[in-house]
Amino acid sequence: MSSKADYYSILGLTKDADHEAIKKAYRSMALKYHPDRNQGDAHAEERFKEAAEAYEVLSDPEKRGLYDQYGHEGLRRTGFQGFQGFSDIFSSFGDIFSDFFGGSAGSRRGPKKGRDLGVELNVSFVESFSGVEKEFTIPREDNCETCSGTGSRSGRRQPCPQCGGQGQVFQRGGFFSMATTCPNCHGQGDYAPDPCPECGGSGRVRRQKTISVKVPAGVNTGFRLLLRGQGEAGPKGGQNGDLYVEVVVRHHDSFSRERNHLILEHKIDMVTAALGGEIEVPTVTGGVQAVKVPVGCQNGKLVRLPGLGFKDPSGYRQPGDFIVAFTVAIPKDLTERQKELLLEFAAIEEGKKGVSPFRKWGKKIKDAVFNS
Ligand SMILES: [Zn+2]
Ligand SMILES: [Zn+2]
Repeated sequence: MSSKADYYSILGLTKDADHEAIKKAYRSMALKYHPDRNQGDAHAEERFKEAAEAYEVLSDPEKRGLYDQYGHEGLRRTGFQGFQGFSDIFSSFGDIFSDFFGGSAGSRRGPKKGRDLGVELNVSFVESFSGVEKEFTIPREDNCETCSGTGSRSGRRQPCPQCGGQGQVFQRGGFFSMATTCPNCHGQGDYAPDPCPECGGSGRVRRQKTISVKVPAGVNTGFRLLLRGQGEAGPKGGQNGDLYVEVVVRHHDSFSRERNHLILEHKIDMVTAALGGEIEVPTVTGGVQAVKVPVGCQNGKLVRLPGLGFKDPSGYRQPGDFIVAFTVAIPKDLTERQKELLLEFAAIEEGKKGVSPFRKWGKKIKDAVFNS
């Protein structure tokens, strides 16, 4: 004989209680002894499990029949063991708990838009300047082609018994119960009684999807491209979600960007800086660009080439400028002859200004020039 308490008395019912009465009794018991409201109370925990087990049996006509005829022993012979823990209980009676805690009943039914997806897309600095067409792959849930997303061989679906059509079950996580997607119907609220062999009844398959995207010229890091309908497939014939592609531009060793301006730091020699002239500088796309160095070009001098910078990716604004920032290289390792010439140059400067650099800085500088 079993020492277990009688299921009817656990729920405070008589043997002739109907299904509604059983459900109602269980709900009030479950609410009263719910672990969220009775933290660490072993007695409440026991009552809560007991009530769940009683409800499990009495709400099932077959089990109830066995129990009525043979008692606990009758159920044990069928392999019935009750519940191992809370998560069993929550996943079995998710619909009841979702009613308790204001689950969004009904909102899960009917076509729903698929999830939006987001990816980061790396482009090189040059690609961000010129624009590029890129391909990449993302893991994405699509509707199963074999069953056209119904998940069913015959195309027929039935309300899910595990979640009561809610599409979600409640599981205990830490201090509260959490809604999670129903494992039986994958959140759809209904399921296929004759599951499609391709997708196992979910109507959905996860696959690597290759996406091609046109990245417009001029994009900068943080620029977002919206690909409509490239997100996850909508369940039950719902619209596809969207895919957001966020651009990340890689660093370039020579070029940089300031707003829509393209910046190049370019070294020129001392003589060119002094005399000026036309020189060639590299362009970001691998060509060359003629640039005028002004006479007496100072270190840090900026030369602007209007309109040769980054385009506005949306096309509204004028393109930026190509700005060349000159740095003047001071020669090292001078030959004796070069030193002589520079001193001669200095002497002329002295004549021009009436101030000798040697007089100005004294003997030190002369020694430094000739004894190094
Ligand atoms: Zn379900
Ligand atoms: Zn399928």
